[in-house]
Formats: sequence, C-alpha cells, structure tokens
Amino acid sequence: MAELPANPEDKLTTTRLCAWMRVLVESLALAGSAVRCLPQRGDCHDQHFVRAVAVSRVVVLGAGVAGHTAASFARRWLDRGDSVTVVSPKPDYNWVPSNIWVGVGLLKPEKVTFPLAPVYERAGIEFVQAAAREFHPEGDGEDRTPYVTAESANGKRSKIPYDFLINATGPALRFDKTEGLGPDGGHSLSVCQPAHAAQTAAAVDDEVERMRRGEKRRFLVGMGHGTCTCEGAAFEYIVNLEFELRHRGVRDRAELTWITNEYELGDFGMGGMQLRGGGYVTPSSIYSASLFAERGIDWITRAHVSRVEPDRVLYETLDGLQGEQGFDFAMLLPPFSGVGLQAFDRGGAEITERLFLPNGFMRVDADYSPRPYEQWKAADWPRTYQSPEYRNVFAAGIAFAPPHAISVPRKSPNGTVIAPAPPRTGMPSAMIGKAVARSVVDMIAGADAPTRTASMAEMGAACVASAGANPFKGTAVSMTVFPIVPDFERYPEHGRDPAGTFGEIGLAGHWVKIMLHHMFLYKARLRPGWRWIPE
Ligand SMILES: Cc1cc2nc3c(=O)[nH]c(=O)nc-3n(C[C@H](O)[C@H](O)[C@H](O)COP(=O)(O)OP(=O)(O)OC[C@H]3O[C@@H](n4cnc5c(N)ncnc54)[C@H](O)[C@@H]3O)c2cc1C
Repeated sequence: MAELPANPEDKLTTTRLCAWMRVLVESLALAGSAVRCLPQRGDCHDQHFVRAVAVSRVVVLGAGVAGHTAASFARRWLDRGDSVTVVSPKPDYNWVPSNIWVGVGLLKPEKVTFPLAPVYERAGIEFVQAAAREFHPEGDGEDRTPYVTAESANGKRSKIPYDFLINATGPALRFDKTEGLGPDGGHSLSVCQPAHAAQTAAAVDDEVERMRRGEKRRFLVGMGHGTCTCEGAAFEYIVNLEFELRHRGVRDRAELTWITNEYELGDFGMGGMQLRGGGYVTPSSIYSASLFAERGIDWITRAHVSRVEPDRVLYETLDGLQGEQGFDFAMLLPPFSGVGLQAFDRGGAEITERLFLPNGFMRVDADYSPRPYEQWKAADWPRTYQSPEYRNVFAAGIAFAPPHAISVPRKSPNGTVIAPAPPRTGMPSAMIGKAVARSVVDMIAGADAPTRTASMAEMGAACVASAGANPFKGTAVSMTVFPIVPDFERYPEHGRDPAGTFGEIGLAGHWVKIMLHHMFLYKARLRPGWRWIPE
C-alpha cells in the first residue's frame, strides 16, 4: 500500500483518523467484505472512506518536461488501484535542451530521445499515443464523467475519462506566423524538435564543406517573429555554432549574425538579469554583448522578422524602420502558442474561452486583468495552476497562460509587438509538474484544495547554457536567478535577490551541462533513485 500523502496544512487529527480508517477499510476490502457499497463522496470522512474503495483516474496530457514529471510523481504517490494515464502524440521522450547539440552535429537524435512505452509499462503508467483535442469537463448528455477526446495518428478519436486532468501539452510551434519561416516548406531551420535539429546539423555540414572549398558563408540565428520566447535556446545555438565552426577550422570564412526581438541583448524574456560573479554585478546585456564581441558575432536587436525568403529575412525594428539581412543558413525559432485544445460543456456548447486565453494557453489561478506595465505585480502569477473553472483541472509547464510578459511590452509605431514572451524553462516546468501532481494526489486523498504551490515569482531557477561543447576547451554560462519573475516590492532595485542571482562562464559549466544531460535523461527513464534527482 502506498504511503498516505503528506499534507502539512491538514488538520492532523482528522488526517490520522482518516488514514487509520482507510487502512481498516482497505483491509476489509481485501478480505472481500462488502465495503464497496459505501456511500458516495460527501464530507472529509466520507471522502476518505470512498477513497479507500474507489479508484481515481489521473490523466496527464503531454509527456514533456512538465507532463512526464507530473505523471511519474503522481504514479509514485498514488495507490496502485488508482490509474495514471499519459496522452501524448509522440512515441518518444525528448530532452529538449540537448537538441542544441544535435543541431550542431555533436549528438544524434537518439541520444536525446527514448521510447516512452517501455518506461511507462515498467512504472505502471498507461500510455495513449494520441493528441488531445477536446476537454469535456462536465461529461456529456449521456454521462457526467469528465473526459478528453484524443486523436491517434490514424485519425481515430477516443474518449479518455478522468477524475483529475493535468494539461502539460507545451507549445505549438507557430512557424505559420511568419511567411517563409521554418523547415517544413519555409526557408529557415529549427532546433525545437530532434528531427528539425538533425536537419539543421546536416545543413551545418554542407556549409562547412562549402567553406572548406573556400566560400564565405553567412549564418543568421535568432528569433523568427517579434513575439518569440526561448531566446536563451537560440543564444545557446549561435555560440555553439560559432564554437563548432572554429573547431572545424572554417571560422574565418563564416559571418555570424544574431537577430532578436529583445530590446537589449541578454533580456531572455526575463527583463534581463543583474548577475553577481567575479566580484562584480554585471547586467546580462553586457555579459551577452561581451561574449558576442569576443566571438565575433554581430547582432540586430528590437527586430520583428516579417518574412523569410530563400536568402534573406525582412524585418521591422521598434523604431518602425524596415531592414533586411541576407543569409546562406538561417536557424530561427518560431513563436509559441497553446496547442489549440477546445472545451465543451455538458450540453455540447463550446466553452474554450472560459478555459483558455486567445493564445491557446490555459487559464489558471493567475490574475489576468489587463493592466499597464507599471502595475504588474509578482502576485499576478499563478501559484497552484488549478483552473478557476474546474477544480479537477490543472495546467503545468508551457501549457499554462502567464498573466503577462516579464519583459517590458513594446510596439513599433506601426503597432507591431516587438517584445519577448515570458519563458518557462525546464526547471520551473518540472517543479510546477511535481507541485501539481502532489496537489492532485492530496486532493484525491481528501484535501479540498491544492496543497502545493510553485509560483514563478517565488521560485528561483538555475540554467546552464552551453557556449561550446568540448571536454577541454568548451564553456558554459552557469546562471541562477531568484525569483524568476521579478518582485519589485521585495527587491526594489532590480526585482531580484542579488544574493541568488549569479552568473559565471567557464569550462566547469560545460562539465556541469554534460552531467545534467545524463542525469536528466536517467531521471526521465525512471531508473533506480530517479526521484532523488532534483528537477
Ligand atoms: C531548443 C530548445 C532548447 C532549450 N534549452 C533549455 C535549457 O537549456 N534549459 C532549460 O531550462 N530549458 C530549455 N528549453 C526550454 C524547455 O525545453 C522547456 O521549458 C520545456 O520543454 C517545457 O516543458 P513542457 O512540458 O511544458 O513542454 P514540452 O517539453 O514541449 O512537452 C510538451 C509535451 O506535450 C505533447 N503534446 C503536444 N501536443 C499535444 C496534444 N495535443 N495532446 C497531448 N500531448 C501533446 C508534446 O508531444 C510533448 O510531449 C529549451 C527549449 C528549446 C526549444
């Protein structure tokens, strides 16, 4: 029997009493007694009685960083009689951060992925390889059991009933937002998915061959739209690419340019950072500019890429000017949206707007009232990730809708938004997934509200950004920030605690990055001791 989930805020006596009752009831149930006829859910005691005999179904949509973490912990913490089902369209898990190294040809896609089915089978998690399409949180006319519909690769739709639902579907990659953007029918490359990254690596090989034959080549890396997020990933890619071109002896024939929607370099969608290190406090703008200057990388900031042609991008800048930049090789990230889930009430009326923002991300317990930047508060950010509409529905990772950006919102005189959307990197996505899993497990055990919080305005994050992969000459930038979302009431100067916001570049960081790659893949494979590895 699994341990009774700990819930520190619960009234201890009630919890213990209920726990003992549960043990008793379960023993009786095992002995074949008639306790399965116990009454339906009512007050706390009834819930614990029913809990002992009724199975709960936790359904997790998405098997990425947030969903896989949530499903793994939920499975571990729940009784075996309860079920955990993961619904996700791809057969493999992908450790996305290492796609960068696939994109420069250092790793093959199979080194950053593994098949989910055997891992879930071993863990006792049901895996449905399909894409969720619709939420029916009130069931339908025939049956009030909430369910989602999911569509498998052959177009077949199925109903998946749940008691608790965790939406961790991550981002949709919106290459369609910029004409000519993206590897599928467009003129630019990507590293968002392993297959994209492998295609990008092949293009790097071609460019290197041309440069070895004496040609000069132009590389453009960055953001493919004015509202992109994930600047950190593209940043990692360009410095790794530069390192790799040097390593392959062709750097002198390559011209590298960074194009970004950031107001200043080093904004990363987090409003920049003031990084303590080496006895100084250095703004991330200076940090990034120094690194680019040292590596001979040019940059274009405050830019919205409006069109990608076979050999150039057209862009608009915040001052309203139009520009163009030629390239032979372009790796440009797309903007993100939610994955386009729809929701319906019991009568079949569409209620998508009640559950999701227009950008497709799910509404949770954040304060979404529109306010000017000066009035944004750390407290606007969600803490429990519970849907305000349905207490048994949660979102984790990129799937939840942030209340607003973190970076200052800006528009060009033409009204074009040119400002990064807020990032939700791996560490907070996993921490949110774990917190949501705990809340769900505790609610199944009788808590009437989520028991765990994981606000990005109250948590710190660590990130190790590779700046060149080599065991002797490689480097990585190791950063910590606290909190992720600046809190200007607590930390009036920069919004973050200077003691918890740190940055340093060096070879040691590269070794840490390698270690993290192996550690997180080990953890994701649910190998022995996985749960002791931090998120
Ligand atoms: C190239 C790149 C490099 C990065 N590097 C770093 C880094 O160094 N450090 C860092 O902290 N973060 C990094 N990030 C960010 C990190 O990858 C994300 O924070 C993290 O993956 C978010 O987790 P998630 O679970 O919300 O989304 P994802 O990991 O994207 O997972 C979403 C899951 O949902 C599934 N899904 C999609 N549609 C549906 C549907 N309709 N129904 C069901 N399932 C669905 C997907 O197949 C996937 O399994 C990087 C991102 C990119 C793109």
